[in-house]
Amino acid sequence: MSVSVNTTAHLHTHATSSKASPADVRRNNRSLIFNLLYPSHAYSRAQLGRTTGLSRVAISDVTNDMLSEGLIYESGYETHVAGKGKRGMLLGVDGERLRIITIDLSQEHLISGEVTNLLGTPLQHAEIALDSQKGVDCEIIASLIERLWKEELRIGNDSGRVIGIGIAATGVVHDGVILTSTEWDWHDVDLRGMLERRFAVPVCVTNDVICAMMTERFFGKGSGNLLFVKIDRGIGAATLVNDIPIVGENYASGEIGHIVVDPDGAQCPCGKRGCLETILSAPALRERMARAANENERRQVIADAGEHLAQAIAMPVGLLDMGDVCVWGPPDIVNDVFIDTAQHYLNRSTASNFHKRTTIRRCQCGQDITLRGATVAVAQAAATGGETIASRESDDI
Ligand SMILES: [Zn+2]
Repeated sequence: MSVSVNTTAHLHTHATSSKASPADVRRNNRSLIFNLLYPSHAYSRAQLGRTTGLSRVAISDVTNDMLSEGLIYESGYETHVAGKGKRGMLLGVDGERLRIITIDLSQEHLISGEVTNLLGTPLQHAEIALDSQKGVDCEIIASLIERLWKEELRIGNDSGRVIGIGIAATGVVHDGVILTSTEWDWHDVDLRGMLERRFAVPVCVTNDVICAMMTERFFGKGSGNLLFVKIDRGIGAATLVNDIPIVGENYASGEIGHIVVDPDGAQCPCGKRGCLETILSAPALRERMARAANENERRQVIADAGEHLAQAIAMPVGLLDMGDVCVWGPPDIVNDVFIDTAQHYLNRSTASNFHKRTTIRRCQCGQDITLRGATVAVAQAAATGGETIASRESDDI
Protein backbone atom coordinates (compact mmCIF):
# COMPACT_ATOMS: atom_id res chain seq x y z
CA MET A 1 0.00 0.00 0.00
CA SER A 2 1.50 3.30 -1.01
CA VAL A 3 0.32 6.23 1.03
CA SER A 4 1.68 9.62 1.81
CA VAL A 5 1.48 10.89 5.33
CA ASN A 6 0.52 14.51 5.75
CA THR A 7 2.41 16.14 8.55
CA THR A 8 1.07 19.67 8.18
CA ALA A 9 -0.23 19.73 11.71
CA HIS A 10 3.24 19.21 13.16
CA LEU A 11 4.40 22.47 11.67
CA HIS A 12 1.96 24.42 13.74
CA THR A 13 2.64 22.86 17.09
CA HIS A 14 5.57 24.15 19.04
CA ALA A 15 7.48 21.62 21.07
CA THR A 16 7.89 22.91 24.58
CA SER A 17 10.47 20.33 25.57
CA SER A 18 12.74 17.94 23.73
CA LYS A 19 11.08 14.91 25.33
CA ALA A 20 7.69 13.99 23.88
CA SER A 21 5.01 13.72 26.56
CA PRO A 22 2.31 11.01 26.37
CA ALA A 23 -0.06 13.78 25.24
CA ASP A 24 2.32 14.68 22.37
CA VAL A 25 2.58 11.04 21.32
CA ARG A 26 -1.19 10.76 21.37
CA ARG A 27 -1.59 13.91 19.27
CA ASN A 28 0.94 12.62 16.76
CA ASN A 29 -0.84 9.26 16.51
CA ARG A 30 -4.19 10.94 15.97
CA SER A 31 -2.74 13.21 13.33
CA LEU A 32 -1.01 10.33 11.57
CA ILE A 33 -4.18 8.25 11.35
CA PHE A 34 -6.53 11.09 10.43
CA ASN A 35 -4.23 12.28 7.65
CA LEU A 36 -4.09 8.80 6.17
CA LEU A 37 -7.88 8.74 5.99
CA TYR A 38 -8.38 12.38 4.90
CA PRO A 39 -10.32 13.18 2.88
CA SER A 40 -11.78 10.01 1.40
CA HIS A 41 -9.59 6.98 1.98
CA ALA A 42 -10.85 3.90 3.77
CA TYR A 43 -8.54 1.64 5.78
CA SER A 44 -9.10 -1.09 8.32
CA ARG A 45 -7.44 -0.91 11.72
CA ALA A 46 -5.01 -3.64 10.62
CA GLN A 47 -4.04 -1.67 7.49
CA LEU A 48 -3.54 1.47 9.57
CA GLY A 49 -1.33 -0.51 11.93
CA ARG A 50 0.81 -1.88 9.11
CA THR A 51 1.16 1.55 7.48
CA THR A 52 1.97 3.55 10.60
CA GLY A 53 3.85 0.91 12.57
CA LEU A 54 1.64 1.62 15.59
CA SER A 55 0.54 -1.23 17.85
CA ARG A 56 -2.99 -2.68 17.77
CA VAL A 57 -3.67 -1.16 21.16
CA ALA A 58 -2.51 2.31 20.07
CA ILE A 59 -4.60 2.12 16.88
CA SER A 60 -7.79 1.04 18.64
CA ASP A 61 -7.24 3.57 21.41
CA VAL A 62 -6.95 6.47 18.96
CA THR A 63 -9.61 5.31 16.51
CA ASN A 64 -12.14 4.68 19.32
CA ASP A 65 -11.67 8.23 20.53
CA MET A 66 -12.03 9.69 17.04
CA LEU A 67 -15.12 7.53 16.42
CA SER A 68 -16.81 8.82 19.56
CA GLU A 69 -15.88 12.43 18.71
CA GLY A 70 -17.49 12.06 15.26
CA LEU A 71 -14.29 12.66 13.29
CA ILE A 72 -14.31 9.21 11.67
CA TYR A 73 -16.90 6.50 11.08
CA GLU A 74 -17.07 2.82 10.22
CA SER A 75 -17.89 2.65 6.53
CA GLY A 76 -18.31 -1.11 6.02
CA TYR A 77 -16.30 -4.31 5.75
CA GLU A 78 -13.34 -4.80 3.42
CA THR A 79 -14.35 -6.58 0.22
CA HIS A 80 -11.04 -8.35 -0.47
CA VAL A 81 -8.70 -9.89 2.04
CA ALA A 82 -5.55 -11.79 1.11
CA GLY A 83 -5.30 -15.41 2.40
CA LYS A 84 -7.56 -16.57 5.20
CA GLY A 85 -7.63 -13.26 7.06
CA LYS A 86 -10.81 -11.94 8.55
CA ARG A 87 -12.46 -9.06 6.74
CA GLY A 88 -11.77 -5.87 8.67
CA MET A 89 -14.09 -2.96 9.29
CA LEU A 90 -13.07 0.05 7.20
CA LEU A 91 -12.71 3.48 8.73
CA GLY A 92 -13.16 6.79 6.94
CA VAL A 93 -13.57 10.50 7.69
CA ASP A 94 -17.13 11.24 8.82
CA GLY A 95 -18.82 13.78 6.57
CA GLU A 96 -22.11 13.71 8.48
CA ARG A 97 -21.73 14.59 12.11
CA LEU A 98 -19.50 17.65 12.51
CA ARG A 99 -19.55 21.11 10.99
CA ILE A 100 -17.00 23.82 10.24
CA ILE A 101 -17.67 27.47 9.48
CA THR A 102 -15.38 29.00 6.86
CA ILE A 103 -14.90 32.62 5.81
CA ASP A 104 -13.13 33.90 2.69
CA LEU A 105 -11.58 37.37 3.03
CA SER A 106 -9.77 37.27 -0.32
CA GLN A 107 -12.45 38.77 -2.53
CA GLU A 108 -12.64 42.39 -3.47
CA HIS A 109 -16.18 43.52 -2.77
CA LEU A 110 -17.60 40.90 -0.47
CA ILE A 111 -16.81 38.40 2.22
CA SER A 112 -18.39 35.00 1.85
CA GLY A 113 -18.84 32.19 4.29
CA GLU A 114 -20.07 28.63 4.46
CA VAL A 115 -21.07 25.94 6.85
CA THR A 116 -19.39 22.76 5.64
CA ASN A 117 -18.81 19.22 6.77
CA LEU A 118 -15.28 18.00 7.57
CA LEU A 119 -14.62 17.51 3.86
CA GLY A 120 -15.43 21.09 2.95
CA THR A 121 -18.70 20.18 1.22
CA PRO A 122 -20.82 23.34 1.42
CA LEU A 123 -24.10 22.98 3.28
CA GLN A 124 -24.98 26.65 3.65
CA HIS A 125 -23.66 29.81 2.08
CA ALA A 126 -23.93 33.47 3.07
CA GLU A 127 -22.15 36.63 2.07
CA ILE A 128 -21.93 40.30 2.94
CA ALA A 129 -21.27 42.99 0.34
CA LEU A 130 -18.59 45.41 1.50
CA ASP A 131 -18.79 49.16 1.53
CA SER A 132 -15.85 50.05 -0.73
CA GLN A 133 -14.96 53.01 1.50
CA LYS A 134 -14.88 51.13 4.79
CA GLY A 135 -13.66 47.70 3.70
CA VAL A 136 -13.78 44.84 6.14
CA ASP A 137 -13.46 44.87 9.92
CA CYS A 138 -13.60 42.21 12.61
CA GLU A 139 -17.21 43.05 13.48
CA ILE A 140 -18.40 42.30 9.93
CA ILE A 141 -16.58 38.96 9.98
CA ALA A 142 -18.10 38.06 13.36
CA SER A 143 -21.59 38.99 12.18
CA LEU A 144 -21.29 36.70 9.14
CA ILE A 145 -20.12 33.85 11.38
CA GLU A 146 -23.04 34.49 13.73
CA ARG A 147 -25.52 34.41 10.87
CA LEU A 148 -24.16 31.08 9.58
CA TRP A 149 -24.06 29.59 13.07
CA LYS A 150 -27.65 30.57 13.82
CA GLU A 151 -28.78 28.97 10.58
CA GLU A 152 -26.80 25.82 11.40
CA LEU A 153 -28.43 25.73 14.86
CA ARG A 154 -31.87 26.07 13.31
CA ILE A 155 -31.22 23.12 10.98
CA GLY A 156 -29.00 20.91 13.13
CA ASN A 157 -30.41 21.85 16.53
CA ASP A 158 -27.07 20.96 18.14
CA SER A 159 -24.57 23.69 19.01
CA GLY A 160 -21.81 21.12 19.61
CA ARG A 161 -21.62 20.21 15.95
CA VAL A 162 -19.54 23.26 14.98
CA ILE A 163 -15.98 22.27 15.87
CA GLY A 164 -14.11 25.29 14.55
CA ILE A 165 -13.85 28.29 12.27
CA GLY A 166 -11.51 28.51 9.28
CA ILE A 167 -10.55 31.90 7.89
CA ALA A 168 -8.82 32.40 4.54
CA ALA A 169 -7.05 35.75 4.68
CA THR A 170 -4.88 37.63 2.22
CA GLY A 171 -1.42 38.69 3.29
CA VAL A 172 1.13 37.48 5.77
CA VAL A 173 -0.43 35.34 8.49
CA HIS A 174 1.21 33.77 11.51
CA ASP A 175 -0.26 32.10 14.57
CA GLY A 176 -3.75 33.48 13.97
CA VAL A 177 -2.48 37.03 13.54
CA ILE A 178 -2.66 38.89 10.23
CA LEU A 179 0.77 40.54 10.29
CA THR A 180 0.25 42.49 7.07
CA SER A 181 -2.55 42.62 4.56
CA THR A 182 -2.10 45.26 1.89
CA GLU A 183 -5.63 44.61 0.54
CA TRP A 184 -7.23 45.55 3.87
CA ASP A 185 -4.44 47.76 5.17
CA TRP A 186 -4.25 45.59 8.28
CA HIS A 187 -1.24 45.23 10.52
CA ASP A 188 -0.91 42.86 13.47
CA VAL A 189 -4.61 42.05 13.70
CA ASP A 190 -5.16 39.16 16.13
CA LEU A 191 -8.14 37.76 14.29
CA ARG A 192 -7.92 34.34 15.91
CA GLY A 193 -7.80 35.76 19.43
CA MET A 194 -10.78 37.99 18.81
CA LEU A 195 -12.91 35.25 17.24
CA GLU A 196 -12.00 32.58 19.80
CA ARG A 197 -12.98 34.87 22.68
CA ARG A 198 -16.29 35.52 20.97
CA PHE A 199 -17.21 32.04 19.73
CA ALA A 200 -15.27 29.72 22.07
CA VAL A 201 -14.21 27.26 19.38
CA PRO A 202 -10.75 26.88 17.80
CA VAL A 203 -10.10 29.28 14.90
CA CYS A 204 -7.53 28.67 12.15
CA VAL A 205 -6.41 31.65 10.06
CA THR A 206 -4.60 30.63 6.88
CA ASN A 207 -3.22 32.55 3.91
CA ASP A 208 -5.74 32.43 1.06
CA VAL A 209 -3.33 31.00 -1.53
CA ILE A 210 -2.32 28.20 0.84
CA CYS A 211 -6.05 27.50 1.34
CA ALA A 212 -6.52 27.27 -2.43
CA MET A 213 -3.49 24.99 -2.74
CA MET A 214 -4.85 22.68 -0.02
CA THR A 215 -8.12 22.35 -1.97
CA GLU A 216 -6.16 21.37 -5.07
CA ARG A 217 -4.14 18.91 -2.98
CA PHE A 218 -7.01 17.20 -1.18
CA PHE A 219 -10.01 17.67 -3.47
CA GLY A 220 -8.36 18.32 -6.84
CA LYS A 221 -5.44 16.68 -8.63
CA GLY A 222 -2.46 17.99 -6.69
CA SER A 223 0.19 15.71 -5.27
CA GLY A 224 2.24 16.23 -2.12
CA ASN A 225 4.81 18.23 -4.10
CA LEU A 226 3.14 21.14 -5.79
CA LEU A 227 3.81 24.69 -6.89
CA PHE A 228 0.51 26.55 -6.92
CA VAL A 229 -0.01 29.97 -8.52
CA LYS A 230 -3.14 32.07 -8.13
CA ILE A 231 -3.74 34.88 -10.61
CA ASP A 232 -6.42 37.26 -9.47
CA ARG A 233 -6.46 40.90 -8.34
CA GLY A 234 -2.82 40.24 -7.54
CA ILE A 235 -0.63 37.22 -7.97
CA GLY A 236 0.33 34.82 -5.22
CA ALA A 237 1.99 31.45 -4.99
CA ALA A 238 2.19 28.63 -2.50
CA THR A 239 4.50 25.65 -2.30
CA LEU A 240 3.86 22.21 -0.92
CA VAL A 241 6.90 20.00 -0.28
CA ASN A 242 6.29 16.46 0.96
CA ASP A 243 2.80 17.60 1.94
CA ILE A 244 4.07 20.45 4.10
CA PRO A 245 3.12 23.99 3.05
CA ILE A 246 6.24 26.12 3.03
CA VAL A 247 5.72 29.14 5.25
CA GLY A 248 9.15 30.75 5.28
CA GLU A 249 11.34 32.78 7.61
CA ASN A 250 8.93 35.72 7.84
CA TYR A 251 5.76 33.70 7.08
CA ALA A 252 5.63 35.41 3.68
CA SER A 253 6.51 32.49 1.40
CA GLY A 254 4.71 32.79 -1.93
CA GLU A 255 4.37 36.58 -1.78
CA ILE A 256 5.89 36.90 -5.26
CA GLY A 257 3.64 39.69 -6.57
CA HIS A 258 6.04 42.47 -5.67
CA ILE A 259 9.25 40.90 -6.87
CA VAL A 260 10.69 43.01 -9.69
CA VAL A 261 10.96 41.17 -12.97
CA ASP A 262 11.39 44.23 -15.21
CA PRO A 263 13.26 47.15 -13.56
CA ASP A 264 12.16 49.46 -16.41
CA GLY A 265 8.56 48.26 -16.27
CA ALA A 266 5.37 49.98 -15.17
CA GLN A 267 5.12 51.82 -11.85
CA CYS A 268 3.64 49.61 -9.12
CA PRO A 269 1.56 50.99 -6.22
CA CYS A 270 4.21 49.52 -3.87
CA GLY A 271 6.74 52.10 -5.11
CA LYS A 272 8.89 49.84 -7.29
CA ARG A 273 8.79 49.37 -11.05
CA GLY A 274 7.99 46.22 -13.00
CA CYS A 275 6.77 43.99 -10.16
CA LEU A 276 5.37 40.64 -11.30
CA GLU A 277 1.92 41.94 -10.36
CA THR A 278 2.14 44.83 -12.88
CA ILE A 279 2.69 42.21 -15.59
CA LEU A 280 0.58 39.24 -14.55
CA SER A 281 -2.36 40.34 -12.37
CA ALA A 282 -5.81 40.01 -13.94
CA PRO A 283 -6.48 43.81 -13.96
CA ALA A 284 -3.10 44.52 -15.63
CA LEU A 285 -3.67 41.90 -18.32
CA ARG A 286 -7.26 42.97 -18.98
CA GLU A 287 -6.15 46.56 -19.40
CA ARG A 288 -3.56 45.46 -21.94
CA MET A 289 -6.12 43.33 -23.80
CA ALA A 290 -8.53 46.26 -23.89
CA ARG A 291 -5.85 48.32 -25.66
CA ALA A 292 -5.14 45.57 -28.21
CA ALA A 293 -6.31 46.32 -31.76
CA ASN A 294 -7.45 42.83 -32.72
CA GLU A 295 -7.79 39.20 -31.66
CA ASN A 296 -4.22 38.39 -32.63
CA GLU A 297 -2.85 41.10 -30.38
CA ARG A 298 -5.09 39.99 -27.51
CA ARG A 299 -3.79 36.47 -27.99
CA GLN A 300 -0.25 37.79 -27.88
CA VAL A 301 -0.92 39.54 -24.55
CA ILE A 302 -1.92 36.19 -23.05
CA ALA A 303 0.97 34.32 -24.67
CA ASP A 304 3.42 36.89 -23.27
CA ALA A 305 1.83 36.48 -19.84
CA GLY A 306 2.31 32.70 -20.01
CA GLU A 307 5.95 33.21 -20.92
CA HIS A 308 6.48 35.73 -18.10
CA LEU A 309 5.03 33.32 -15.58
CA ALA A 310 7.23 30.49 -16.84
CA GLN A 311 10.29 32.76 -16.62
CA ALA A 312 9.39 33.71 -13.06
CA ILE A 313 8.90 30.14 -11.85
CA ALA A 314 11.66 28.39 -13.81
CA MET A 315 14.16 28.93 -11.00
CA PRO A 316 11.99 27.67 -8.09
CA VAL A 317 10.90 24.73 -10.28
CA GLY A 318 14.56 23.81 -10.78
CA LEU A 319 15.52 24.60 -7.21
CA LEU A 320 12.84 22.34 -5.72
CA ASP A 321 12.69 19.82 -8.58
CA MET A 322 8.95 20.45 -8.92
CA GLY A 323 7.08 18.17 -11.31
CA ASP A 324 3.67 19.79 -11.00
CA VAL A 325 2.72 23.45 -11.39
CA CYS A 326 -0.94 24.31 -11.05
CA VAL A 327 -2.31 27.73 -12.05
CA TRP A 328 -5.67 29.04 -10.89
CA GLY A 329 -7.10 32.10 -12.57
CA PRO A 330 -9.97 33.52 -14.59
CA PRO A 331 -10.69 31.61 -17.82
CA ASP A 332 -10.14 34.65 -20.07
CA ILE A 333 -6.53 34.72 -18.84
CA VAL A 334 -5.50 31.21 -17.79
CA ASN A 335 -6.60 29.60 -21.06
CA ASP A 336 -4.96 27.15 -23.50
CA VAL A 337 -2.78 29.84 -25.08
CA PHE A 338 -1.46 30.84 -21.65
CA ILE A 339 -0.78 27.28 -20.50
CA ASP A 340 0.72 26.11 -23.83
CA THR A 341 3.11 29.04 -24.00
CA ALA A 342 4.14 28.62 -20.37
CA GLN A 343 4.68 24.88 -20.91
CA HIS A 344 6.75 25.50 -24.02
CA TYR A 345 8.98 27.99 -22.18
CA LEU A 346 9.34 25.75 -19.11
CA ASN A 347 10.36 22.81 -21.33
CA ARG A 348 13.01 24.93 -22.99
CA SER A 349 14.37 26.35 -19.77
CA THR A 350 14.18 23.52 -17.24
CA ALA A 351 14.05 20.10 -18.95
CA SER A 352 17.33 18.21 -18.95
CA ASN A 353 18.71 14.72 -18.48
CA PHE A 354 18.34 14.96 -14.72
CA HIS A 355 15.26 17.21 -14.52
CA LYS A 356 12.27 15.64 -16.20
CA ARG A 357 9.51 17.63 -17.84
CA THR A 358 7.53 19.75 -15.41
CA THR A 359 3.84 19.90 -16.16
CA ILE A 360 2.10 23.24 -15.90
CA ARG A 361 -1.68 22.96 -15.90
CA ARG A 362 -4.84 24.90 -15.25
CA CYS A 363 -6.55 24.31 -11.91
CA GLN A 364 -9.99 22.77 -12.42
CA CYS A 365 -11.39 23.83 -9.04
CA GLY A 366 -14.14 26.43 -9.02
CA GLN A 367 -14.63 29.79 -7.33
CA ASP A 368 -15.03 28.17 -3.90
CA ILE A 369 -11.42 26.94 -3.97
CA THR A 370 -10.36 29.30 -1.17
CA LEU A 371 -13.32 28.65 1.13
CA ARG A 372 -13.01 24.91 0.78
CA GLY A 373 -9.33 24.95 1.67
CA ALA A 374 -10.09 26.83 4.88
CA THR A 375 -11.76 23.69 6.21
CA VAL A 376 -8.61 21.58 5.86
CA ALA A 377 -6.69 23.37 8.64
CA VAL A 378 -9.69 23.17 11.02
CA ALA A 379 -10.28 19.47 10.34
CA GLN A 380 -6.60 18.65 10.81
CA ALA A 381 -6.39 20.71 14.00
CA ALA A 382 -9.49 18.98 15.40
CA ALA A 383 -8.06 15.59 14.56
CA THR A 384 -4.72 16.39 16.14
CA GLY A 385 -6.46 17.69 19.22
CA GLY A 386 -3.34 19.76 19.73
CA GLU A 387 -4.57 23.15 18.70
CA THR A 388 -7.53 23.63 20.96
CA ILE A 389 -8.03 26.80 22.93
CA ALA A 390 -7.60 24.88 26.18
CA SER A 391 -4.26 23.39 25.20
CA ARG A 392 -2.91 26.76 24.04
CA GLU A 393 -3.90 28.36 27.31
CA SER A 394 -2.21 25.62 29.31
CA ASP A 395 0.95 26.03 27.17
CA ASP A 396 1.04 29.70 28.17
CA ILE A 397 1.09 28.99 31.89
ZN1 LIG B 1 5.08 46.18 -6.45
